[in-house]
Amino acid sequence: MTEALLNVVGVSRSFAAGEDELTVLKEINLQINRGEMVAIIGASGSGKSTLMNILGCLDKPNKGHYLINGQDTSAMDENELAALRREYFGFIFQRYHLLGDLTALGNVEVPALYANEGPRARQEKATKLLTRLGLSDRLEHKPNQLSGGQQQRVSVARALINGGDVILADEPTGALDSSSGEEMMKLLRELHRDGHTIILVTHDAHIAEFADRVIEIKDGEIIGDTLNNKANVHQSNESTAEGAAESVAVLEDNHTQAPQQTLKSRRLASKIYWSRYLEALKMALIGMSNNRLRTFLTMLGIIIGIASVVSVVALGAGSQQSIMNNIASMGTNTIEIKPGTGLGDRRSARVRSLTAADADALKSLSFVDSVTPTVKANVAIRYSSETVTGSVEGVGTDYFRVRGYSLAQGQFFAADSVVAMEQVAVIDENTSQALFSEESALGQVIFLGSLPVRVIGVTQPIESASGNSDELNVWLPYTTVSGRIFRQNYVDDITVRVDENVESEVAEQGIISLLTMRHGVVDFFTINTDTIRKSIEKTSETMTMLISAIAFISLLVGGIGVMNIMLVSVTERTREIGIRIAVGARQTDIMLQFLIEAVLVCFCGGALGIGLAYLVGVIFSYSGSDFQMIYSATSIVAAFACSTLIGVMFGYLPARNAARLNPIEALSRD
Ligand code: ADP
Ligand code: MG
Repeated sequence: MTEALLNVVGVSRSFAAGEDELTVLKEINLQINRGEMVAIIGASGSGKSTLMNILGCLDKPNKGHYLINGQDTSAMDENELAALRREYFGFIFQRYHLLGDLTALGNVEVPALYANEGPRARQEKATKLLTRLGLSDRLEHKPNQLSGGQQQRVSVARALINGGDVILADEPTGALDSSSGEEMMKLLRELHRDGHTIILVTHDAHIAEFADRVIEIKDGEIIGDTLNNKANVHQSNESTAEGAAESVAVLEDNHTQAPQQTLKSRRLASKIYWSRYLEALKMALIGMSNNRLRTFLTMLGIIIGIASVVSVVALGAGSQQSIMNNIASMGTNTIEIKPGTGLGDRRSARVRSLTAADADALKSLSFVDSVTPTVKANVAIRYSSETVTGSVEGVGTDYFRVRGYSLAQGQFFAADSVVAMEQVAVIDENTSQALFSEESALGQVIFLGSLPVRVIGVTQPIESASGNSDELNVWLPYTTVSGRIFRQNYVDDITVRVDENVESEVAEQGIISLLTMRHGVVDFFTINTDTIRKSIEKTSETMTMLISAIAFISLLVGGIGVMNIMLVSVTERTREIGIRIAVGARQTDIMLQFLIEAVLVCFCGGALGIGLAYLVGVIFSYSGSDFQMIYSATSIVAAFACSTLIGVMFGYLPARNAARLNPIEALSRD
């Protein structure tokens, strides 16, 4: 005699009931051969479902062994058991247990998905099965749009899609009216005739009559195992039934095809593996769109977190850039020397020791590239009837080199002009536009206060400050300003441009010691643009750290929100998870599904957050600020990476909880 397909050897199953142990199955021995149709009958609470769950590898015995095809299941791990459920068994439940979010077709496809079947093959098979079960016009219906009998037929199709060698039906007619119930039993007999092994559980003796073999169970013990002669009557009735032959042919076809399909799909496994990801993604999207408000509220934490990080970083970058531009407009690698003890010193106006001679002395220092004194004049700029206000400065010949100006027209004034206090001026593009518009400014005479000067040069606008400055600038020899306007011999400040390859701090020290020697006291102070830039860079680094810390906290809070909702979602979908495990989902499949959902929520939250940050930027630019927010690609990529990582981190625990659910408990949940 060949070995039984299913072999239950001395199996006991008990549950903890408070202090005591409730033994539900007591040393059961049972052999079921391939192709049998067995009914397990007994009163409610006798242990039928418990036995069925063990037979279907949803539950494990406390004692004894359960062998499938000679292989002991007690030594198998979760993945191997999942594979058995997929490859051998097809479950039919009393309450159908279809997934409410999926169509009839989608429900039937689920086990094939976990068996790595490609999407096309899956759909073809499912359509064929549903058509043969008379549901060709209900393929796209959701379970709640189907009658009980129809739902049960969908679940039969689901049980058959991976071959369904052994069909386990727990009270399959329990929720059906008597005529649908009878139809269901006829369908099971048909499957039996096609070679499927059928095991059905019922408390109804009339239903049990459809089986060839009836096993009676009472208080966890088998008290009867009889062959049923009446079943053959049903069988002979059925063989004359119309359409049965056709139906059988198709189901048989599907049945014999199964092993080949499995082989083929193994070959394509790696390719089709992606289809499982894709399907998990699809499920996540369905789940999200079914709970739109909740999904949005979950995302909100991430949206706000990411939006605040991205926009604050952009704001910081914008303001830093604007400050840096202002510094850059003071010249690169320059040191300014001003009278007094520092900026804001009210007595500095009375200090008159800074002179053009100091500038000449500084010029002799080895590390100095160029030097210019500056004398500022507060006078109106006038040409014929046009009067404008702007900055009028007396400067040295080196000024333009120090500041990095170049000429658009004409020339800069020469050393001779400085010595001779010539009334010549260089003006900038803005001033030229303001006074002469389209006319050429060269050679024209403008009035600075009451002093007439001739324009000899126009500078090119320089990229600086906040983009295009609308300042008006007029420069003339400092001797002209101090001699002809003020009649003074001191200057307002001296600007030194240091050689490129000299440390600006070293140069600053050299300048200070030379001037201190010349003046006898330190009645001046220096401003080193390089030092300022460095200190701003350092400050903004600190600020970035601070902002990042705050952002991290807000994202953490958002992540906890995601975790919370995912835990709720797992609880809500416990039954769905139970169904998926029963039809052969691996723990990794369940895990993946929930992880993908969490990541998707966070990813979308990240995308919306970045969108919101850009919106903030647009609003900000209309708010009349003098600088723009600067969005760096790095911060955006980092934001995306961060939100995705949060999804993985905070989705992990709920996903693991889902994957570790006990399928029986999960299925009994409402
Ligand atoms: P039935 O024959 O009606 O299908 P079951 O196999 O479902 O009976 O249950 C048999 C007995 O085992 C019942 O008394 C039930 O209370 C108990 N039982 C079933 N599952 C559990 C469980 N997970 N924990 C505790 N007791 C259980
Ligand atoms: Mg039961």
